[in-house]
Amino acid sequence: MKFIPRQPREGINVSDTHPLVEAGTLVAGLTLIFVFIALLLIFLVEIALYFIPVEKEVALFEDWLPEDLITVSPADERLHQAQLLVDRLAFHWADAPYTFRVEIDDSDVANAMALPGGLIIVTEGLLDQVESENELAFVLGHELGHFRNRDHLRALGRGIVLSLFLATTMGNDVSSISVTVTDLTLRGFSRQQESSADEFGLALVYTHYGHVDEAWRLFEKWDNDDRIMPGVVSYTSTHPDAGDRVEKLKDQALREGWPIEGLITGLKW
Ligand SMILES: [Zn+2]
Repeated sequence: MKFIPRQPREGINVSDTHPLVEAGTLVAGLTLIFVFIALLLIFLVEIALYFIPVEKEVALFEDWLPEDLITVSPADERLHQAQLLVDRLAFHWADAPYTFRVEIDDSDVANAMALPGGLIIVTEGLLDQVESENELAFVLGHELGHFRNRDHLRALGRGIVLSLFLATTMGNDVSSISVTVTDLTLRGFSRQQESSADEFGLALVYTHYGHVDEAWRLFEKWDNDDRIMPGVVSYTSTHPDAGDRVEKLKDQALREGWPIEGLITGLKW
């Protein structure tokens, strides 16, 4: 038999499948892999949290502060009053495993956040906007709700939670864990975590004052104001739409039969 050389047929390296179909398969496959990895990480964090008891978390973060936090003077009256208010609200959370400490961040951007070990940070920007103790009480009560569900640890990011887990179980050092307020501001909670923190916060406010008047007034103000108020952007970017929150909070008060009018307590600064 004689070998007759011939050119390979045209397009031998081109698949019979349409390139768009191939691209689609690739994208779908990669998406599936990413979703799987994300779910696995979420699952690992849930397991890790189970192994990080609150006592251990408190011990590890006793005197800890985020690296980029600029605190106001310890003699600041607002600090004293905010701490008193948190203590009074937390009193109604029976068996709260944390001893909460408050710090005020010297930032014009309105925000409040819950951090490891029972640390609550409120910014000067937020304090400038609250007009009564009742308004502030709800913001603080909401943050207490994040502690109850340990959302604050989930918000740290998977990597940090896993390092914490290693610190707890294998005695690794946590000093290498770097957390900044800026990081945390960028990470929000899920809608479910937010509503659950709102419900808990409102219950604390009701138990403390016997009514929920002005609990959501701050959000009402933000919702009614079409201007982008300086400083509001950050809190609203990490929290659900102010208008939705007001509706849900009103519903809860109505359902529970909590008075929506009552004596307003002024700010003591
Ligand atoms: Zn929140």
